[in-house]
Amino acid sequence: MGFLQGKRALITGIASERSIASGIAEAMHREGAELAFTYQNDKLKSRVEKAAAEFGSDIVLPLDVADDAQIAACFDALGQRWDGFDILVHAIAFAPREAITGQFLDGLTRENFALAHDISAYSLAALAKAARPLMQGRNGAVLTLSYLGAERALQNYNVMGVAKASLEATVRYLALNLGPEGIRVNAISAGPIKTLAAAGIGGFRKILGHVEQNAPIRRTVTIEDVGNVGAFLCSDLAAGVTGEVTYVDGGYSIVGMTGLGDGE
Ligand code: NAD
Repeated sequence: MGFLQGKRALITGIASERSIASGIAEAMHREGAELAFTYQNDKLKSRVEKAAAEFGSDIVLPLDVADDAQIAACFDALGQRWDGFDILVHAIAFAPREAITGQFLDGLTRENFALAHDISAYSLAALAKAARPLMQGRNGAVLTLSYLGAERALQNYNVMGVAKASLEATVRYLALNLGPEGIRVNAISAGPIKTLAAAGIGGFRKILGHVEQNAPIRRTVTIEDVGNVGAFLCSDLAAGVTGEVTYVDGGYSIVGMTGLGDGE
């Protein structure tokens, strides 16, 4: 019996089979969770429906997090199918390409800054707020995805790093707010993985190569690596963990210096 047997999970953020959300869905399905899905727009609808069918689900709901009415409608519709649910996976981020390439200030505008924060950080709090009535008293869990750029200044990541810092702070405030209601809130800070969103970041191929050479495990992580930890964090096995950012990056973030050679 899987460790998510009897749990129901809503998965956002599938754009392709390479999406981190797909890896999380795979692991949660394997561990026995019942799944529902959202898609951002009509272009992605059939792709998400196909993924859902592979996981034995016919609950596929529209959700553009920029639109308050869609957020409300999504949880209304979910409530028609499920009287409650246990797990909310937030795997959503966006910043315009010019804001995540080149120098921080060159791509910076009030609009880009606001948009990155709205879609990538505010949306976590907005979804948690809308999900709250359906997640009461079930030992539930919310999971989001962050990146090292929240803590360190990384070339090209720019305004998305600032938005991820806001996302990680949002995780802590949500954890404090929702803990007494039996809802835990955690983030995974994932190492770089080639997905559609990542392709927008300047120099992404070089980032992958750098991590492969310098991470202690000498490889980049996969959506399966992230999915397994995500499934664990949302399960009762992690009942004592909330408000945390767990790194799934092959150890890259702990390295200070390498490459000096033996005895040097
Ligand atoms: P992806 O492109 O597969 O997924 C991004 C998702 O965000 C897409 O499904 C897209 O539809 C959704 N999205 C964007 N704007 C939206 C909106 N307005 N409403 C609803 N959905 C919207 O890429 P991914 O890498 O799987 O990204 C998932 C999460 O993982 C993101 O938060 C990303 O920042 C984070 N992350 C990715 C990496 C990486 O290297 N790929 C590393 C660390 C963290």
